Amino acid sequence: MPVRRERFYFGMKISRTVHRPPAGRAEPAWMALHRSGELAARARIADERLEDCDLCARYCHVNRKETMDGVVCRTGELAVVDSAGPYHGEEDCLRGWRGSGTIFFARCNMRCVFCKNWEVSWKGKGEEKTAAELAEIMLGLQAMGCHNINFVSPSHVVAQILAALVIAASEGLRLPLIYNSGGYDSLEAIKLLDGVVDIYMPDMKYGNPELARKYSHAPDYVQANQVAVREMHAQVGDLRLNVDGIAERGLLVRHLVLPGGAAGTEQVMQFLARKISPATYVNIVNQYRPAYRAGEYPELDRAVTAQEYEAALDIAHKAGLHRIDRRHSDRWVVRWP
Ligand code: SF4
Repeated sequence: MPVRRERFYFGMKISRTVHRPPAGRAEPAWMALHRSGELAARARIADERLEDCDLCARYCHVNRKETMDGVVCRTGELAVVDSAGPYHGEEDCLRGWRGSGTIFFARCNMRCVFCKNWEVSWKGKGEEKTAAELAEIMLGLQAMGCHNINFVSPSHVVAQILAALVIAASEGLRLPLIYNSGGYDSLEAIKLLDGVVDIYMPDMKYGNPELARKYSHAPDYVQANQVAVREMHAQVGDLRLNVDGIAERGLLVRHLVLPGGAAGTEQVMQFLARKISPATYVNIVNQYRPAYRAGEYPELDRAVTAQEYEAALDIAHKAGLHRIDRRHSDRWVVRWP
């Protein structure tokens, strides 16, 4: 008998009997960890790590259960969620025709001066959620028919996500998980997610440590980012799509082009092509607009030109990368059923 339960959150009414995941699709890898008890064990380890936090590349080593002093992400024991819902603005292979089930976490471990979501990332707009509430959100997104659960800005809430996932798995969650991060992740955290995350979607924001320091207060970003991306790729490999063109497992890298070449596109693409795989799926993003404190940096206080964006695409192709996302272009066409 199907269970019919209705819930309200973020103003949306959902019923769990609607839109079960399609039968016959490969089950997400994390379900095996759930059945063996390993998922719960990982959640316990991550929870302990909150007391001496090394769960992102900031390595604050603070007890987040007791204090916020020295906590760069300004997030304690509970995750703060700004919004959740089916989102149709992601890459075609993630959004499909029913949307990607995004959960947008507030606060961030990055400190980007040009952040377009600064009210959420810097100011912390959102509501604290317990593990049970976060699990309920995941199940609601599944009930709405989303193709996946897409954790946006998850680096500082890995422990809270794992705790919620244990509950959601017991209650019937069956969707692939996307880890959609700024790419400033600790190796320790990514190893805890081995076999849990189906699709890693990190940013590679910079190729130059000095610019990472200047614009994101993260002088070791390039090194930490490359270590994390190597580990992510070792776990899940190149991006694989199912018969409907929906991403099932693998690595998808996003690279936001900044004005004046500040994102270090050449270094990033060379790293991906040579050290990861020429088949890395890369989205070179053309959405930069000056926001937040970008006006304090004259070189960032303008949009990226069409020439700069085309040059970034050329750099990727010349590096040998051949899976470049270009929605609406003739190089990338997916037909939905
Ligand atoms: S998640 Fe990162 S920024 Fe937050 S307390 Fe832990 S190490 Fe610091």
